[in-house]
Amino acid sequence: MKTNRAIKQGISRRSFISAGAAATWMLGQPGIATAGRKCNGTVIVVGAGPAGMAAAHLLKQNGVDFQVLEAAPSVGGRIKHNLDFTDFPIPLGAEWVHGEPEILEEIVNDPAVEITTRLGSYEPGVKSAYFEDGVLEMYFDSAFQSDLKFIDSSWLQFFSRYILPGILDRITYNSQVMAIDYSGERIQVTDAAGTIRSADKVVVTAPIKILQRSDIDFIPALPESKTRVIENAKIWSGLKVFLEFDHQFYPTFLSFSDSETRDGQRLYYDAAYGQYTTKNILGLFAVGMQAERYQALSDKDLLQQILRELDEVFDGVATRSYLQHVVQNWNDDPYAGAAYLADVEDLSTSRVLSKSVDERVYFAGEAYTNFDDWGGVHAATRSAADAVNELLS
Ligand SMILES: Cc1cc2nc3c(=O)[nH]c(=O)nc-3n(C[C@H](O)[C@H](O)[C@H](O)COP(=O)(O)OP(=O)(O)OC[C@H]3O[C@@H](n4cnc5c(N)ncnc54)[C@H](O)[C@@H]3O)c2cc1C
Repeated sequence: MKTNRAIKQGISRRSFISAGAAATWMLGQPGIATAGRKCNGTVIVVGAGPAGMAAAHLLKQNGVDFQVLEAAPSVGGRIKHNLDFTDFPIPLGAEWVHGEPEILEEIVNDPAVEITTRLGSYEPGVKSAYFEDGVLEMYFDSAFQSDLKFIDSSWLQFFSRYILPGILDRITYNSQVMAIDYSGERIQVTDAAGTIRSADKVVVTAPIKILQRSDIDFIPALPESKTRVIENAKIWSGLKVFLEFDHQFYPTFLSFSDSETRDGQRLYYDAAYGQYTTKNILGLFAVGMQAERYQALSDKDLLQQILRELDEVFDGVATRSYLQHVVQNWNDDPYAGAAYLADVEDLSTSRVLSKSVDERVYFAGEAYTNFDDWGGVHAATRSAADAVNELLS
């Protein structure tokens, strides 16, 4: 039986690097490393996605005066979800918990808090399929064996419940940071409305694409070693589509010869797997070149293309049972601009991106990690812990 070896290799690399990252991070766990340290000044956190919220939460736990400036009218960034499409939260960006479920406890960083968020795993031997040259081959295995899914919840609901209440009053929404001037004694942060706020330290969690597009003006310019890496960083485009059908004709995972390549990834999957629902929701996840092929199409052509692809695999059933769909094109999101730092990037890239500047400007987020893992929420929040830890030292 043919299995999709490429996908498996990709996922096992992810599992391997996650395990390495966990070991690195424990050394920098704020509860341990920050004992006896403090920061007397004020801190501005730029962005309220997972990294920004995790950083703000840790600053609060350590008694630091901080505020968060968020460009969008709400928190979440690339973990945002859709609650209107069906009867469980649709994760428009991050969906799986890669690696260990302990990451939720790590983010909360308080053993007194009982976390009731439910995570589910894939049953061993779930129904998967591989389609190539007109032939559909079924196999019973999952490339996502070590990944977990939120049950009737999402990354955003987890943050909203356990992190957001403690930092809510410090967040200013619709405040897109345009300039960070760290030339003087105090750092001046200017947003799109022209409001200038000052702080002693800044934690930048805006996505790497935002820096690559120079949407934030650093004064003085960031060191050349860092700007070079920002300019050259390979950032994958990203798109997710969720389709509702009147019955389930597809397996848990459907992959193709281009499901895992150096240029990107593409996978159809049962998005309702493990949920308390009778709805039939199929997800399409595409990043890199694979996403760009879909993004080049108009809304109407995109749906036609997807139905055509599925009809080819399932003998026309897709078009006959289609009910509705929703598209999230991350390249069109003004404050993300892309999916995330490519899986195939060099180990050194995220390390350079994570380096603080002038002991006052810190970087945290999925692309700014000083360990051998990037791209995921766990990496973003661990990098936030590292940045806060360094800031407090
Ligand atoms: C299609 C897709 C699927 C994914 N699937 C998974 C998955 O299954 N599991 C997983 O772990 N991860 C997944 N990820 C990655 C995950 O979403 C990211 O790792 C995570 O959201 C990164 O968090 P962050 O805080 O670094 O950035 P973000 O979530 O992007 O948050 C950054 C915040 O900064 C704000 N911002 C931007 N510019 C400015 C500015 N100038 N001023 C102020 N605020 C600003 C943004 O509005 C945003 O709120 C996926 C991502 C995509 C796109």
